[in-house]
Formats: sequence, structure tokens, C-alpha cells
Amino acid sequence: MKVRCCIVGGGPAGMMLGYLLGRAGIDVVVLEKHADFFRDFRGDTVHPSTLQVMDELGLIDGFLKLPHQRLQKMDGLFGGTPVRIADLGRLHTKYPFIAFMPQWDFLNFLREAGRRFAQLKVMMSTEAVDLIRRGETVAGVRARTPDGFIDIEADLTVACDGRHSMVRERAGLAVEEIGAPMDVLWFRAGRRPEETESLFARIEPGKMMVTFDRGDYWQCAYVIAKGQYEAVKARGLSALLDDVVRMAPILRSGIAEVKSFDDIKLLTVAINRLTRWTQPGLLCIGDAAHAMSPVGGVGVNLAVQDAVATANLLADKLEHGCPSENELDAVRRRREFPVKMTQAMQVIVQNNIIRGALQGGDQPLKVPLIVRLITALPWLQGIPARLIALGVRPEHVHSRAAPGS
Ligand SMILES: Cc1cc2nc3c(=O)[nH]c(=O)nc-3n(C[C@H](O)[C@H](O)[C@H](O)COP(=O)(O)OP(=O)(O)OC[C@H]3O[C@@H](n4cnc5c(N)ncnc54)[C@H](O)[C@@H]3O)c2cc1C
Repeated sequence: MKVRCCIVGGGPAGMMLGYLLGRAGIDVVVLEKHADFFRDFRGDTVHPSTLQVMDELGLIDGFLKLPHQRLQKMDGLFGGTPVRIADLGRLHTKYPFIAFMPQWDFLNFLREAGRRFAQLKVMMSTEAVDLIRRGETVAGVRARTPDGFIDIEADLTVACDGRHSMVRERAGLAVEEIGAPMDVLWFRAGRRPEETESLFARIEPGKMMVTFDRGDYWQCAYVIAKGQYEAVKARGLSALLDDVVRMAPILRSGIAEVKSFDDIKLLTVAINRLTRWTQPGLLCIGDAAHAMSPVGGVGVNLAVQDAVATANLLADKLEHGCPSENELDAVRRRREFPVKMTQAMQVIVQNNIIRGALQGGDQPLKVPLIVRLITALPWLQGIPARLIALGVRPEHVHSRAAPGS
């Protein structure tokens, strides 16, 4: 098989880039190793920056018809003191809310919307297992399909295969690790219609958790100190669930849905980034180029922003063949600043709020000055809202739509 662009990985970065290149009339294939998008929970926050992109693509009306919940005000309890972390209602943007939607719905929607582009092919159950090289140049991938192996030759290969990227590992690209003091346990608790609460984050000495109202269930994220999952397991499930309910009494009845540790997904938090995102014939974007901390829930949106920037910078050039490595590197030059700024802010939150809270101790928790200021001065609530909702240097769709698409 021979294509102009082969995208490895059908997550938010890969599916959005596939859509944009297909829309521009570029011969593109997206390889996704799973048979469908319906699998482990992987983050389901669609931020205003992504909603804006969907609007610019003319997809927003259909998209917002899919079941979702909206979050505008981020309220928390910090050592028992109510705080407000952000108010997206203060933003001058068309979609001033976070839409919570299962990631598989988002990806399925993009896939369905992209079916009208004759140049876009999505191959499910197709796992890239190695790079094809022509001298120093990456010339495509070898992939495993249910019918056997296939070589896909491509002028450009884009790694969108996530934080454990096979492509970047085979390419030998160096990863700069920044580190994080915590891991996160994700699980669902049942929710009855009468159970409502606007609280989103809770911080107590030694403990921290986040709950999102997802209609018929609560999506919960319980933060633990880095590497402590085995110790949590050794204490036993009921000790963990008791801690959870003590922090969030609203979960008392629904927590029964967590029946074993199999119902809990461990997110080993990593913050890292590639120093070089390219090789001749190869570009990495999304988590494959930079894994983000869950702080702010921005990973999906940065992946989408990378895809938009890649299409803006490269779609026209791809019409004539593979862009030079310098041209490919324009994506890193454009996106590295937002990535570094976002990661720097995540590190500040981790070091100044999360690390201290997880250390515990007998002293009551003091609300950090910055959080007190944001809570007391509502006009300040727009600043974290802007950083979370729109991020640094938001991207807009400039790549062309081929005639008829
Ligand atoms: C438990 C958890 C909770 C999270 N919560 C949030 C959140 O609330 N908000 C948020 O914004 N972010 C969250 N994230 C992070 C977010 O999911 C990622 O930042 C985002 O999905 C990155 O998108 P991506 O397209 O770069 O990579 P991914 O979403 O990781 O997609 C990579 C895709 O490539 C496929 N793939 C991998 N290897 C191959 C291969 N060799 N061949 C073919 N296909 C391959 C994978 O199956 C996957 O579909 C969470 C992550 C986890 C794990």
C-alpha cells in the first residue's frame, strides 16, 4: 500500500489530523490497533478550544447533539474551605464550557464525519509494528492486520500513537522526562438523579480527589502519591473506598459499583516531551511528542491543537510530496511553546498544591494565597479559566478544504 501520509494511532491527534488532511484532499491513512474506539477510559474533556475547532469545521451542531454534560464553574473544598478555581462563564468565547463526552463518542463522530472524504482511509485492528526506512528517511510502517502483515509506504509518517509511542521509540527520538509526584486512580460510581453537587475537587491532608457528574454515574479521579498503587492495594479495597466516601459523601450509595480493583484504572502520571519531534519523513505529535499531567485535563485538547497546527503548516506542502525535515519541524516550532508553558503550569500546581497535600500530616491544610485570591476576586477567575479552556496560543483551522469536500 502506498499513501502520501500514514498516521499511526487513532486517538484525538490522529483522528483530527486524518480528518483535516482528508478534507484537504491529501491521500491519508490512519492506523488504529484496536477494533473500535470503545475501550478504557482515557479522558473525556472537550474544552472550548476544541469546540471552537469543531465550529470552524462546521461540525459543532451535530457534535453537541451527542450526549454530554457541561461544566462552567470549577469549585472545590480545600481542607474544608470552599474555593472557586475557575469560572469559564467569564470568557469571551463562543463555547464557554467544558463538554464532558466519552472519548469514543468524540472519535466515532470524527470517523463518521470523515467518511465523505474519498482520500481518507481509517484502518482499524491495524497495529504498526516497525518503521520502514530508506536510508536515513522514514518511508512508512509495517503493520499487523487480522489478515497478516502489510507494508504501508508513505511520504510522511506521523506518530500519533500516544505516550507509549512505538514509532518514537523505533525512531530513537530522545525523551526529556519532567516527572510528577502523583498517580491517579480513575473509577466510576453510580449516580442517582437526585444526587447533585457542584463540587469538583476536594483536597484534604494526604488525600485529593476530583468528581465529575456524568449523568448516570460519577467519574472519579483519586490522586495517590507516585508509585503507591501497590501499597493502596495492600490496604484493601474497602479501606480505599472508605477514604473516598469520607471525602465525598455524595458517593456513598454509588460506590458499590466499584466491586474490585479491576474496576479501577491506574493512570501513571508522566510529564515528558521530545527534544526533537522529527526525522526525515517522520513527525510526532500529541502524547507521542509530549505526555501531559492530568492537571487541567488538557491532554486531549493539546493533541487536537497539534493536529490543527500540523494541517495548517503542512497540508499544502503535502500535495507535492514529503515536506523537508525543516518544514516538518515548523510544527515543533509552533507547538513547543504552548506545550512547555502548559507543562510548566502543571509542574507549579503539582509542586505547590498536590505535593504538599499528598504529604499529609496533622496540620490542617492552608489554602494557598493564589487560590484564596482567585476565590475572593471573581474577576481573577477568568485567568485560570482561560488557561484551562483555551490554553496558550490556541489554533484555528486554516488548512484548505478541497473542492467538493
Ligand atoms: C486514565 C486517563 C485519563 C485521562 N484523563 C484526561 C482528561 O480528563 N482530559 C484530558 O484532556 N486528557 C486526559 N488524559 C490524557 C489524554 O487521554 C491524552 O492526552 C490524549 O488522548 C492524547 O491524544 P493522542 O491522540 O496524542 O494519543 P492517545 O489518545 O493515546 O491515542 C493513541 C492511539 O494510538 C493507538 N496506537 C498506539 N500504538 C499503536 C500502534 N503501534 N499502531 C496503531 N495504533 C496504535 C492507540 O490505541 C490509541 O488509540 C487521560 C489519560 C488517561 C490514560
